[in-house]
Amino acid sequence: MELKRNAKYVIGVDLGGTNVRAAVVDQAGDIISEGRTDSRAMEGLNVTIGQIVIAIRQAVDGSPVTMDNIAGVGMGMPGTVKSQEGMVMWSPNFLGWDGVQISQPIRDEIGVPMLIGNDANVAALGEYAFGAGRGAKCMVMFTLGTGIGSGLVIDGKIWTGVNESGPEMGHHIVLADGPRCSCGRYGCLEALARRDAIIDRAARKAHQGRATLLLDKSGHDLRYVTPAMIAEAAAEGDEIAIETLRETGYYIGIGVSNAINMLNPDKVVIGGGIAQAGEQLFAPIRTTVEVNALYQQLQGCEVLAAELGDNAGVLGGAAMALQQIQA
Ligand SMILES: [Zn+2]
Repeated sequence: MELKRNAKYVIGVDLGGTNVRAAVVDQAGDIISEGRTDSRAMEGLNVTIGQIVIAIRQAVDGSPVTMDNIAGVGMGMPGTVKSQEGMVMWSPNFLGWDGVQISQPIRDEIGVPMLIGNDANVAALGEYAFGAGRGAKCMVMFTLGTGIGSGLVIDGKIWTGVNESGPEMGHHIVLADGPRCSCGRYGCLEALARRDAIIDRAARKAHQGRATLLLDKSGHDLRYVTPAMIAEAAAEGDEIAIETLRETGYYIGIGVSNAINMLNPDKVVIGGGIAQAGEQLFAPIRTTVEVNALYQQLQGCEVLAAELGDNAGVLGGAAMALQQIQA
């Protein structure tokens, strides 16, 4: 893909099932301006392409630059893609996007070339380029949320496997015979540490009749407990919340240990909503890693919280475009 090498800015796009966000980004990774709109995921390919173009134009219109100053666009989205061809092979959020071309119609609209990538991989590249993974030789990222995404950056490049469908470290089996996972198998890290698994863990403890701040925080209906409430209660010393994070941290720690034993990385970055629980979650992760990672593979490896928060997607997309100009 030939990008405009003399242009100084790029655009990062984060396409999700609900919103699409675009940002004009400079070469230092600073966001100059943003656009955001609904992704209208259920209305078909052409409608969503139109929404992406709207978000891109909003971002450019809100900035001091014009489309002529944009070297390229990089976009992360859920699913499996062929990044160089600009094709989406499958997406959990965009039904029917099976083998569809997405980069070319957007390029036709805005006159700027576009690359795409899987959102977890793109977020990992963002953390590598501008966040907690800066300077790493081998960086692994876990993104904790509704599911558990993962990304791998080796020598500055996203590594996605032969079919661009890896790495899926959320589907490492960490407890054989454990609970059923969204993938249909049993005992995956995702089945044990995704958002709903964390909430269920806390609710089961509370249903044993033990006192917990989660009752007050959820309006006395444990169905409404959120990871943020668990983090807050843990910070206030709530035993059930602390246990919940300790057990969740243990499983994440097993997944991180497996990644360390396989890849010998220098940085493991952990992001996503529940990662904001801080040390209450990271302390058990690190303890588990110290016990379960092999000694040599662990040397020089840091386990760190992600730094970019919600900006990992747009900055990762920007980093993908910047890598093409600088290549
Ligand atoms: Zn699974």
